[in-house]
Amino acid sequence: MIGHIASLTSLIDRCAHRAAMHVRTKTALLNNSAPIVSFTFDDVPESAFSVGAAILDAHGVNGTFYIAGTLCDTVDPDGRSLITTPECRELHRRGHEIGCHTFSHRKVGSLGHQALQLEIERNQAFFSALDSSIVLENFAYPYNRATPSSKLMLQRRFRSCRAGVPGVNVAPWISVC
Ligand SMILES: [Zn+2]
Repeated sequence: MIGHIASLTSLIDRCAHRAAMHVRTKTALLNNSAPIVSFTFDDVPESAFSVGAAILDAHGVNGTFYIAGTLCDTVDPDGRSLITTPECRELHRRGHEIGCHTFSHRKVGSLGHQALQLEIERNQAFFSALDSSIVLENFAYPYNRATPSSKLMLQRRFRSCRAGVPGVNVAPWISVC
């Protein structure tokens, strides 16, 4: 019985994510004359700070680090140390962007509207306490899972919201939330 419930939950999750891909939200016009690449990290392993950010720094570019506050100063299930709070502060001071990834790193589909709102507020408060100049302006969906309602809600709060989908954005107008 528990296996059936888990399968049903997974199916609902996949359907909601598929549906979200067809919900039109904010778009941005790309009028660049050359390709654009952005370097992003989710969660974030300590190596993204000590190795990834160092490589970006050496080339004079910045990255975006989508971090769930509750994961800071912890070890993930694979035994990897995740970024520490002083390292988050250091990233910001070196010009890298801290992005929002909810506070508790839960799938947005498991959260109601108010709970999702609270997750966003808690994550902002967490980083504001580290450095009052940190403003979370962009968002990445935990587990790359969006829902139609979360897209509509989060597009009002953030400049962009990301989920991982293979491919290259080539249209002049791209969806940013
Ligand atoms: Zn994540």
